Formats: sequence, structure tokens, C-alpha cells
Amino acid sequence: METTSTPTHCPYCALQCGMNLSPTPEGGVEVTERVDFPVNRGALCGKGRTAPAVLSSRVRLTSPLVRSGGTLVPATWDEALDRIAGELGSIRAGHGPDALGVFGGGGLTNEKAYTLGKFARVVLGTSQIDYNGRFCMSSAAAGGIKAFGLDRGLPFPLEDIPKTGCVILVGSNLAETMPPALRFFSELRENGGTLIVVDPRRTRTAEQADLHLMPRPGTDLALALGLLHLVVAEGRVDEEYVRERTSGWEEARAAAMAHWPEHVERITGVSVPQLREAVRMFCEPEAAMVLTARGPEQQSKGTDTVGAWINLCLATGRAGRPLSGYGCLTGQGNGQGGREHGQKADQLPGYRKLDDPAARRHVAEVWGVDPDSLPGPGRSAYELLDALGTDIRSLLLMASNPVVSAPRAAHIEERLKSLDFLAVCDVVLSETAALADVVLPVTQWAEETGTMTSLEGRVLLRQRAITPPAGVRSDLEVMHELAARLGVEKGFPTDPEEIFEELRRASAGGPADYSGITYRRLVEENGVFWPCPAAPATPTAPTAPTAPTASASAVDDDGEDAGLDVFPEDPARDEAGPAQPGAVLPGPVHPGTPRLFLDRFATDDGRARFVPVSHRPAAEEPDEEYPVFLTTGRVVAQYQSGAQTRRVDELNAAAPGPFVELHPRLAARLGAAEGDPLAVVSRRGRAVAPARITTGIRPDTVFMPFHWPGEGRANTLTNPALDPTSRMPEFKVCAVRVEVVEP
Ligand code: SF4
Repeated sequence: METTSTPTHCPYCALQCGMNLSPTPEGGVEVTERVDFPVNRGALCGKGRTAPAVLSSRVRLTSPLVRSGGTLVPATWDEALDRIAGELGSIRAGHGPDALGVFGGGGLTNEKAYTLGKFARVVLGTSQIDYNGRFCMSSAAAGGIKAFGLDRGLPFPLEDIPKTGCVILVGSNLAETMPPALRFFSELRENGGTLIVVDPRRTRTAEQADLHLMPRPGTDLALALGLLHLVVAEGRVDEEYVRERTSGWEEARAAAMAHWPEHVERITGVSVPQLREAVRMFCEPEAAMVLTARGPEQQSKGTDTVGAWINLCLATGRAGRPLSGYGCLTGQGNGQGGREHGQKADQLPGYRKLDDPAARRHVAEVWGVDPDSLPGPGRSAYELLDALGTDIRSLLLMASNPVVSAPRAAHIEERLKSLDFLAVCDVVLSETAALADVVLPVTQWAEETGTMTSLEGRVLLRQRAITPPAGVRSDLEVMHELAARLGVEKGFPTDPEEIFEELRRASAGGPADYSGITYRRLVEENGVFWPCPAAPATPTAPTAPTAPTASASAVDDDGEDAGLDVFPEDPARDEAGPAQPGAVLPGPVHPGTPRLFLDRFATDDGRARFVPVSHRPAAEEPDEEYPVFLTTGRVVAQYQSGAQTRRVDELNAAAPGPFVELHPRLAARLGAAEGDPLAVVSRRGRAVAPARITTGIRPDTVFMPFHWPGEGRANTLTNPALDPTSRMPEFKVCAVRVEVVEP
């Protein structure tokens, strides 16, 4: 057993808080404070503090399970792997490679996400791969690419937040989802800055705000348009910035001017004086930011909604400037890296597009395969799950629990049951794993090494701290073994660093370029921000090649451009003396790119693009039969589908089960008292949970957290209406009726 303390990162959300892990004499591991990581400076939420509980063999799988006579029974690894390879091989032979589905997760390390995408396309030959991160931030990604030519959740580090003048936080309850991040906003206010929170609930985050706007669910797009209208009407447009750094303003301006404040008030329920106050607070300081999260993004118009908030930033000159910009607060642990390296339906490593011939050639060369052998883009996550049991006959699933987390979850559960074959890799017997034909028990965060990319775009090294229990293997070993059994002997190593070295080559020159990052740098520098291109191999004089899509300029503490070269000169080069013609010198080291877009945006012409957008209603609005909005979200003591956190006693004590949050006026109309069981019914199904009555929610809206399976499963109710660009389902708004359940 390893005996020293190991610096690493939390297994859960995208903040990726730093922590130290030390083995205990009893064979466990304890979390201790790690103050050198600047994001959390030692602070952890309850989930991070208690994370070692999930390492215990009391709650986890330690043997493969194979279904026999309708029951999952322990099996050897060879039996389980042979069964999977045999089933996948015969389904492919009978129905073609696209009958094999693959579903990944935003919690997988970059090495695993990369290998899973390669495994699907090279070993299985299927186009049918996507991942649960599609349900997380795909609308922000699509909006960012449209406007800036590049998607990186935050284009600046969190440490910039306290130094800006105003932040509009749209649909984020980070006091519950990532509590250590709240200090950046407290410091902002201590420094004289202001915080505006947009949320239909008065959350613990909203309670910190200087101004809380409570729009009707599904109307964030109209709200942003109303603010932009006022910016124009009040003469607050930064004309010079718009002229010099953007394109498409006139169309976006015309669209916004059609959204009169009084009209926006009627759509959103936010009063005109509040709109004016928000505009004043946002526009008066030198610098300001807009940060969005799942609230505006998980809508069937999520991409347009993000576009509207970006338009507000662009019109006021608040993007690509120091201490200003638009950012998305990514949710899942590796939600950022997981969307960059190939487990998405349309994507190759380095954030390359699967339908780009040059990208296919580059990656195929790294993989040693014919570019023409790579399948094309496949279905998005919900569409893939919805097709299970039809043309997709089998599914290999890693790090996801769609029985709890997918929209219209009862339907997805039925689709999973209708498969010819389901194989799941997980650390616990999740609700989805319980449906599988084969379950493989795999290693987890503290037991393995690998890289994660945080919501800041900071690539981090999660380090192995303890020996995994006997009987479990890593996802990388699983893919290595399955590849060999399916006839691909090479190209699927099990050493994460070896895979990262390949990922560096595969990402080189792509938008998310990791080629200048090494494991050693990640340890020595406490993470490196991408893009970070590798140095040219044989320069004879220092040059300054720019990252293809971003500025690597640094900003000092005052927010001024510190004027760093993209490739600062390397001391090793200086020591080597004058270059000889043709000499090969150690390359300069790219410092990474904490702040994007300061010089130019990642579009062809370097300008940010306004996107003309207009309000449209949610796919399902309240009516006589279903008169109330349902919105869903998280609570502080549980994480996503709860597969891990529901196995931690301390967290269960704090958040034992689902509830229905509703306003006293709605409760009075229903005749409901605190704790009464309420049935919430949508066109997809019915869920039951106790009432929690609070004035901190709109009277026309109920809220349910989505962490639990069974009777109180919130996703039984949610609407899978998809955003036309991002294919994001509309988790955040649907129409329901609420009834008191008679005893
Ligand atoms: Fe872990 Fe997120 Fe909590 Fe930090 S905020 S300890 S990363 S769950």
C-alpha cells in the first residue's frame, strides 16, 4: 500500500477541487486540506470531504457480474469479457456495426474519453456513440462556437471574478452545486462589484445577490433580449468595440429591438424597473461578465438563449477584454475535457469535427488506420437512447446512469430493457447497471491516474493514491481486453500516461490543443490551461507561433495585459548558446492560455459573431390540464444521478430523498401542507414526493431535485424536446399538474 499523502482532485464536479489523500492504517483513505490549489484553497463541500466512503468495498462492486437465468451472478473477468466480446461480435456480424451503441460520461478522464471514442470507431466501427455530457453543457458549447469560434466553458480563470465590476449569473445555484466557488462572488461584492442572479427560485445563491430576477421558467432568452433592447435604447452600446471586434450587429440589434421591455415583462414576469436596474448595474462598471449554467442551457432553445446572453456581452464590449466575458459554468467533473476528445457523436480528439476530411486524416494517421474506415457522425445522447432496441441492438455504457438522469426516464428504462445486450462498467450497481447483462467493476478516482479538464479549461492530473481492491480493473484495461478479443491487438494501452502522449499528438493543431502539456507539467504547474501547443521541434531562432484559435497573452493582477510572448524563451535554449544552422534545440514551452480571445476571437476573421435570435416559448407551456411549470435541479448533498452520493451515510442523512418545492399560494390552492405526499404528473408520467413549502419559488412553478430513482424520480416527468443545434433536452421546463396524494 502507498503510504504518503497524494495531491489530487475531487471525483465529482467541474470545479475539481484540490485535495490530499492519505491512506489510513485500516486500509482506507482520508481527505486532508490542500491549500496550494488556487481554485478551492483547501475548501471542500460535503461531497468532496466524504468521497472516500465510495471507495469502501461495502458499497461497491468488486466482482464482474453476468446475468444467468434472469439474475446477475458473480463471474470471472475472462467469463465476463468473453461474453461481452462474443455478444458484440455476433450482433455486429448480424446487424452491422451501427447496431452497437456506446454511451460515455462526463466523469471519465480525458484518457478514458479519448480511448472510448477510439474504441467505438476503430474496434467496433460504429458511429453510434455519445455521452451524458450532452445533457450538461452542450447548448453553451454550441452557443460559444457560433459566437466565438471556440467552446471553452470559462475563457478566463475563476480568480478574475472578484476583480470585475458586475456578474450576471444565469440559472446557476452554485451555492449548492459547487459551494467553494461562492467565495469568488463574495469577494466580488467585498471589492465593490455587484452580483445579479437570474433564477425562478430564491436559491442560496440568489440570496447573495444584489439583484435577483425571477423569470418564468423557459424565458431567459426573452429576458436577455429585453436587456439588450434597453442597452440600445439607453445608448449604452460600445460602438467602437462592435465596429472593431464583431460582425452581424445590425441583424442582432433588429431582433432585440423587437423585444420591447413591456413585452418582455409580460413574457418573463420581470418588471421593467428591474430590467433597467440590471442594465445599469451591468453597464456602469469598466468590466462585467455573464455566466450561464444549466438553467438557460437545458432548454429546447438553449443555444439561442446562450447566444442572446453573448449578444449582450458583445454589444457592451464585454468579451475578449480583461476581466470581462461570457462563460459557462460546466457541471460534470470532466464535462469540459469529456467534450473535447472524441466520445461525442460528431467529434474527434482535440475538438475536431468528425466530418472534416483534414481532421479525419490527422487523427487516422495517429491511430494508424485508413481515414475512410472511420464512421461518420452518429446520434445525440437522447436520440441514441431512444433508438435502443430498434436499430441499436446492444449498448456498452461507462460512467453514466440514464435510468435516473435521462429525460423521460421511464421510457429510456424501457428502451434499455429492450436491448439484445447491455454491458455496463461502473463502480457501484447503479439503477442502469442493475439492468445489464454484464456488469464490470472498475477502478475510480483515488485508485487511478488520469487527467481532467476543469470548468476553467485547466487540465489537471488526478493521481492514484491507493491500491484498488482485488477484483476491479480500470476502464482502460476493459477496452484493451475487449479490443484484443475483437481482433485489435494494438493501439489500446492501459497506461494512462502513454494514452495521454497519444492524445497530445491527436489533439495537436486542433482547437483544444493539448500537445504542449505533459504529466510532469501538470504536477509542477498545478494544471495547464489549453490551448497549449507543443513547441516547434527544430527552430533555429525563437519564433512566436500563435495558438491557432486563441490569445496566450497573460493578464496581471490589475487586469492589464502583461505582454507575455506566446512562447517565452526557454532557459535551456539560452544555455545552449547560439544556434547552429539546422541544430535541434529544446523547444520553448508554451505557458498555456488562461485567458482567451484578448487579441482575437477564434473565427476566421478574428471577430466575434452576433447571432440574431428571437424569443419562442418552451416546447410545453402550462395549460388547463397541466397548469404549473416544473423545473429540476440539484441539492448540495447529492451529485447528479446520486449513484455514488446516495451510498454515503452522511450525505443521505443531509438529503435523504426527493421533494416537491412549491409556493404557499400554490400549496393553499391544492390544500397541501408541509410534508404531504404530492403527485406531480406530466405527459410523460407521474412522480410522488413530499411537499416542501417555501416563498422562495414562483407561485406558478414547482421544483424537484433529480438525484433519486423510483417513485420520486423527477426525470420521469421531464420533456425530451431537443434544441435543434445542441440536441440538449428541455430538462428545465415542462408543464405538470400537482395533486395531493390521499393516504
Ligand atoms: Fe468536489 Fe465540486 Fe464539492 Fe469541490 S465543489 S468538493 S469539486 S463536489
